[in-house]
Amino acid sequence: MDLRLTPDELAFRDELREWLSKNVPGDWPQRKYDPLETRFDYLREWQRQLFDAGWAGIAWPREYGGRGASTMLQVIFWEEMARAGAPPLANVLGLGIIGPTIIAFGTDDQRQRFLRKILSAEEIWCQGFSEPEAGSDLAALRSEAKLDGSDWVVNGHKVWNSYGWAADWCELVVRTDSAAPKHKGLTVLLVDMKGPGVEVRPLKQITGETEFCELFFRDVRVPVVNTVGKVNDGWNVALGTLMHERGTFGAGLQVTYRQNLERLIALAHSTERNGKPAAQDPVIRQKLAQTFAEVEIMRLNQMRAFSRINQTGVPGPEGSIQKIFWSELNQRMQQLAQELLGPYGQLEGPDGFAVDQGAWSYGYLRARGNTIEAGTSEIQRNIIGHFVLGLPRSY
Ligand SMILES: Cc1cc2nc3c(=O)[nH]c(=O)nc-3n(C[C@H](O)[C@H](O)[C@H](O)COP(=O)(O)OP(=O)(O)OC[C@H]3O[C@@H](n4cnc5c(N)ncnc54)[C@H](O)[C@@H]3O)c2cc1C
Repeated sequence: MDLRLTPDELAFRDELREWLSKNVPGDWPQRKYDPLETRFDYLREWQRQLFDAGWAGIAWPREYGGRGASTMLQVIFWEEMARAGAPPLANVLGLGIIGPTIIAFGTDDQRQRFLRKILSAEEIWCQGFSEPEAGSDLAALRSEAKLDGSDWVVNGHKVWNSYGWAADWCELVVRTDSAAPKHKGLTVLLVDMKGPGVEVRPLKQITGETEFCELFFRDVRVPVVNTVGKVNDGWNVALGTLMHERGTFGAGLQVTYRQNLERLIALAHSTERNGKPAAQDPVIRQKLAQTFAEVEIMRLNQMRAFSRINQTGVPGPEGSIQKIFWSELNQRMQQLAQELLGPYGQLEGPDGFAVDQGAWSYGYLRARGNTIEAGTSEIQRNIIGHFVLGLPRSY
């Protein structure tokens, strides 16, 4: 792909750069350590501000509130956000994976109904895929939906649903034909999380936060018009969502990683090793240089993924390479921070001893989940082996 920017792309970049220079909230460096719920409200407001100014959903169709621009402009958007030190956006799953699924597989009515409110963060989304007995083997899921007039009646139990506590809507995968082979009898529904019969139970993570939840559905009525794609073809729709989660989701993460790298470099200057700033230690310098190169590789891989979507309209299985890369890179960065900090790295909270208000302790613990969420590293390697390299199935 040609990495040089065209005059139109340069004009877009300059306009965005100027807008960000005036609008990125100055208190974000302090507010990013707020408790989850408060931080979430802050990010929701920030997303709303971007939407109002026309910067949300750069590559989404204009008629649904997007900018109708190329995926290259979407990449430039994330790069400029990183450059400006801007906060990430609140509706992570809606923007990154569920909106794109509705664009690709939904009806016009569904696009009209849902997309604009995803962009404005007026409605927050969660993803209801995993179950206690169906994680890596998602097609083994048992939550079911039965037709009753013009509604589906849903019963089941989902788990590990990020932002379930904040969600207004859920992309839910259910079994609609129990007699069919397990990949064939699934359907994807858009479920109102505030409707009767939906129960959300927050789950505490190793970080102490309750970012994800368990969801219980008891005789929940979902209008048939909220079916995405064809009935019993939910496996293909769910795969579409997962390919976005693995292939293009990292575009937003790039912002956080670039900022974390800068914090890491600052940390190496402010901590000591053998009586000198750690930044002068040759081993630490090598590790920082390696991290710099890897963050850049992540950015370029992201461009490649977007470039493929530009050509084909959908992300491919090679998105699993991205998923492994960003998840393991974050763990390496967090590990390096712990090496620099020594025992201080374990301190939490905004007291005088916790470095960066405990953000490194939090980051290290949160990174453990990176190689599990969106499919574990083992599963990504199986996908790469089979679908990208053409090797025989491992199971
Ligand atoms: C932070 C976080 C956020 C999440 N958010 C969501 C969400 O929003 N929505 C949602 O639906 N889910 C979410 N998940 C769930 C996630 O998708 C699952 O945890 C993941 O798919 C693994 O499933 P499992 O936990 O059931 O583990 P299992 O599938 O039971 O796997 C256990 C171990 O066995 C290995 N394994 C399993 N099968 C194979 C195989 N065939 N070959 C080799 N190794 C194998 C796995 O790699 C893993 O190490 C989240 C998880 C985390 C940690």
